[in-house]
Amino acid sequence: MLQLVDIGPRSIGGYRGIATDEVLDQLSTVARELRGVRVAHVNATPYGGGVSELLRSTVPLLNDLGLVAHWKTIFGDNRFFQVTKKIHNGLQGAKGGLTEADREAYLGTSRRNAELFEEEYDFVFLHDPQPAAILKMRRKRSGRWIWRCHIDTSWPNPDVWGFLRKYIAEFDGAVFSMKEFIPPDFPIATVDIIPPAIDPLSPKNMPLNEETLRQVLAWIGIEPDRPLITQVSRFDAWKDPMGVIAAYRLVREEFPSLQLALVGSMALDDPEGWDVYHQIIEASRNDPEIHVFTNLIGVGNVEVNAFQRLSNVVIQKSIREGFGLVISEALWKTTPVVAGRAGGITLQMADNSGGILVDGVEACAAAVKTLLRDRGQALDLARLGKERVRHHFLLPRLLLNELHLMKQLVSGQPMKGDALWRSTHDPVCGMMVGSSGVSTTDIDGQTYRFCSESCRHRFVQDQMRQRKP
Ligand code: UDP
Repeated sequence: MLQLVDIGPRSIGGYRGIATDEVLDQLSTVARELRGVRVAHVNATPYGGGVSELLRSTVPLLNDLGLVAHWKTIFGDNRFFQVTKKIHNGLQGAKGGLTEADREAYLGTSRRNAELFEEEYDFVFLHDPQPAAILKMRRKRSGRWIWRCHIDTSWPNPDVWGFLRKYIAEFDGAVFSMKEFIPPDFPIATVDIIPPAIDPLSPKNMPLNEETLRQVLAWIGIEPDRPLITQVSRFDAWKDPMGVIAAYRLVREEFPSLQLALVGSMALDDPEGWDVYHQIIEASRNDPEIHVFTNLIGVGNVEVNAFQRLSNVVIQKSIREGFGLVISEALWKTTPVVAGRAGGITLQMADNSGGILVDGVEACAAAVKTLLRDRGQALDLARLGKERVRHHFLLPRLLLNELHLMKQLVSGQPMKGDALWRSTHDPVCGMMVGSSGVSTTDIDGQTYRFCSESCRHRFVQDQMRQRKP
């Protein structure tokens, strides 16, 4: 058997008054139709990174909604995870192909995992490339299989994508976080767009008493009364921690009492993490105001909660980003964010909500200084960001999207293009917006809803371009 991950009980009732009533009401209606349905979510690691963060919350809630949901992790040794990290990097556009030995290592472990996956389910969600080859290797196939991609695969490295594509082609459906992430020659017709979401009730996001939070940070050497900027993310070159250190040095020229915290987790499936960690330690060796923490020394959910709540500014200087849950986590705590203009970050911070998007080290430093100088402006942006998270990036919306997808896969109806889809989804980013779309446009008798003014603007521009004689 694949490893079953232990999860605690959760209740969807707890989200009343936090998520919107519209989403919660729709969720209980759809869930009634799917009572007793068996669902498995399979990924590579029970901790570290956004996917495990999501599954820890969604799987218990699916059970509370009346489905029978399990979370399983695949088995893999260091060699396997070296290859899957190479595949991950390649899908995000990194150069370098897979050797014959890489392919064999990936396929050999996938074959063993396929044998270990014994149980039958109505729906199986395989997350990211690590478990993706299992489906093709199963002798018997039942239920519907969905590939859930959390990576920005808009411009994949052709060698890596060419290899993985034939395994992906086997799936009944696929899910991406943003419409623009779908690779150009994607082999599956049923594709849904479901951005990730945060759990406002998890220990990482729940409200905690300020004095407790201050003590949590003081305990690990942070002075809560001095200015603090933080990046929380896996130690990964795509998250550009060295760029964060460079930006911090520029900001410090104006704010000499500034502290920088780099909080990073070591995921089981990310063997490159240690290399990046050592680079950071080397770069920060002579600066006592740079604090580097990992989950391995006990900096876990509550500490991350404290950092995200008490930092003056949260940074996420990603160069490529599938989604970046940390953005919504910080904004939900009304903390302003300075972030790289990459992938799902732009979706979460559309229309300047939440903070400032940047493209390089100097811009990052300038944006942090702006927010440190003007606390009022910073808080106004953060409050806008929090409202956007409430409407679009809380867990019940994600569950509703997934249940809709399951229903649609059973009915065999097309996902896109029909009038119903057009009236409930933003045609630009692909996100479900329901009646709470931020703005609308009427064209040829059809009302289009958008999650943001930026999406509406792009849509109108495209329409005008297409109509030009
Ligand atoms: N995270 C954490 N501790 C850390 C670093 C990261 O708990 O030291 C969490 C973070 O709070 C977020 C997730 O890991 O929930 C990272 O998800 P994101 O989508 O931002 O990035 P990914 O790692 O999936 O690329």
